[in-house]
Amino acid sequence: MKIAEVRIDASILEKHDPEWKFALAASPQSQGWVCSIIAEDGTIGYGYGSAMAHYGAPLEAVKANLDRFAKRIVGKDSRKIAGIMDELDHDVVGNNQAKSAIDCALHDLLARRLGIPICELFGGAAVTEISSLRILPIKSPEKMAANARKLVNEGVKHLKIKVHGNVKEDVACVAAIREEVGPDIHLTIDANQSYTVKSAITAIRLMEPFNIELAEQPVPAGDLYGLKMVTDAVSIPVEADEAAYSLEQITTIVRERVADAVSLKLSKIGGLRKTYAAAMICEAGGVKYRMGAHSGPKILAAHASQLAAALPNIWYASELSEFEGLVADPWEGMVLKDGVIHVTDSPGCGVKPKAGSIYPRK
Ligand SMILES: [Mg+2]
Repeated sequence: MKIAEVRIDASILEKHDPEWKFALAASPQSQGWVCSIIAEDGTIGYGYGSAMAHYGAPLEAVKANLDRFAKRIVGKDSRKIAGIMDELDHDVVGNNQAKSAIDCALHDLLARRLGIPICELFGGAAVTEISSLRILPIKSPEKMAANARKLVNEGVKHLKIKVHGNVKEDVACVAAIREEVGPDIHLTIDANQSYTVKSAITAIRLMEPFNIELAEQPVPAGDLYGLKMVTDAVSIPVEADEAAYSLEQITTIVRERVADAVSLKLSKIGGLRKTYAAAMICEAGGVKYRMGAHSGPKILAAHASQLAAALPNIWYASELSEFEGLVADPWEGMVLKDGVIHVTDSPGCGVKPKAGSIYPRK
C-alpha cells in the first residue's frame, strides 16, 4: 500500500501552569509536530515529533527534517517500515525526534490497516495496566507540596520532583512533599543534569530518609564517568535520561554499567523499533528501564503506552500522563484512571484527532 501523502502540522499547546519549569528551561507550552501519513486507501497513520531543544532538536529543526523525510517517503510501500527507517538513518545522522514521528506514523498506519493495536506488532500486550507518574515542576517547597497534594487527591500515586542543583533547597522540597503526601506515595527526583558529581552524591544521600525511589540524570549528559561515580556511590537507583539520548549511547551505558536504569523516550531514541531494541539491550545487560517523560499530547503518550504494553519487565512507573497538564489536547481515546493507563484493543495507537481538530481524519 503506497504512501499517497504526508502532512506535517504544528502542535503548540498551552499548559495549565504557565510557570512550568525544570532545571534547564521554562516550559509553558508543549511544542512539536504531528505527522500524518496517508495511504492510497485513505487510511491515516499518526506520529508525533517532540521539539526537544535540550537534546539539540528545537521546533524548527524537527520541522525541517520532517519536511525532508516526507518528500523521501511519498510513493513508498508503507508496510516496509524497516527499510524506510534505514534509508532515513542513512540520509540524516541523528534527528531522532523527526524520525520517531515517521516511525510511529508508519506503525500506526500498518496497525490501523490490520485492525490491531500497535502493541501486537511488538509481541502483543503483556500488560494492559501501566502505572504513570506526574511531574512536579520547580517551585518553592510550599507550592510544590501543594501541587503534590492536588495530584494525589486526583488519584496519582507516583510523583517526580524536579530539582535544580541547589542541595539545600532541593532537599527542603523533597522533605516538604514527603511531609505533605505521607509515606505511601512513590517519589522520585529528576535533576536534569544540574548537580556536580559531589553535590549529587551529597543531595541523594540526604534524600534517602525521605524514601526517594529513583534519582534521574543528576550530572551533565556528557559526563558518563561522573554519572557512574554517582551510581556507584548511592543506594537509590540512578537513571540516565539526557545521557541516554540514542540507541548507541544506551549500549555504552549498559555495557559500562554507568547507571542502574535508563529512561526510554520514543522521540529521544528515534521511534518504536529503536526504543524496543533499547529495552532489549537494557534487559540483556541487567539495567532497568521504563518509559520516561512523554510530555506532549495524547498521541505521543499513546504510542509509548502501546510499546510499554509489550514490555512486561518495565520496573517502575512510566511517565505517560503529562497530557493531563495541557489546557486543550486535540486527541481523544486514551484511558487514564487513578494514575493508571489502561491499554485497549483499539486499532493503531488507540487515539484519534477530536472532531474539529486541524489534523486530517478519515
Ligand atoms: Mg528526565
